[in-house]
Amino acid sequence: MNSGINYIKVESGLNWDDYFMLLAMITSFKSKDPATKVGCVIVDSNQRQVTMGYNGMVAGIDESKLPWGKDKSVPLKYQKYGYVVHSETNAILHAPRSLEDCRMYVTLFPCNECAKLIASKKIKEVIYLSDKHKDQEGTEMAKYLFDLANITYRQLIPNERVMKTMEQHLLTLLQEAL
Ligand SMILES: [Zn+2]
Repeated sequence: MNSGINYIKVESGLNWDDYFMLLAMITSFKSKDPATKVGCVIVDSNQRQVTMGYNGMVAGIDESKLPWGKDKSVPLKYQKYGYVVHSETNAILHAPRSLEDCRMYVTLFPCNECAKLIASKKIKEVIYLSDKHKDQEGTEMAKYLFDLANITYRQLIPNERVMKTMEQHLLTLLQEAL
């Protein structure tokens, strides 16, 4: 049957790693945090998205009554740190099913509080974009916890070629729509 007529060798512009990291990056953009926007996507071994999250105030309450400022010279009750739920925690909270053996794509290396939940849920791998808080105690604790729980972690930065191709693709889609 395969005559070779009209057969074209094709490939996706994105591998799964880049795809899910880009999704995590897009998800981070949804955060209202003026300082740090973090996004997280959790996927299973069949490359299906199970859940996602971004950092935000506790869901369902009047956000205007809570502070977004991060000035640590004032009491904790006046800082965002007292009220914001991290992207990884939000993704885990809203997961519709077990996360055992899933992979997490996240735009910033998890803190120790999220690491506790990640390990408890038996997520098997954490793939992160930035490790800008690597010198903080919480990051060191998260890595120690991951090591103890046999959770692997690696950095993934989508390469420039992928980003350029994606930009071109998005512009093409927009032009077709206009
Ligand atoms: Zn966290």
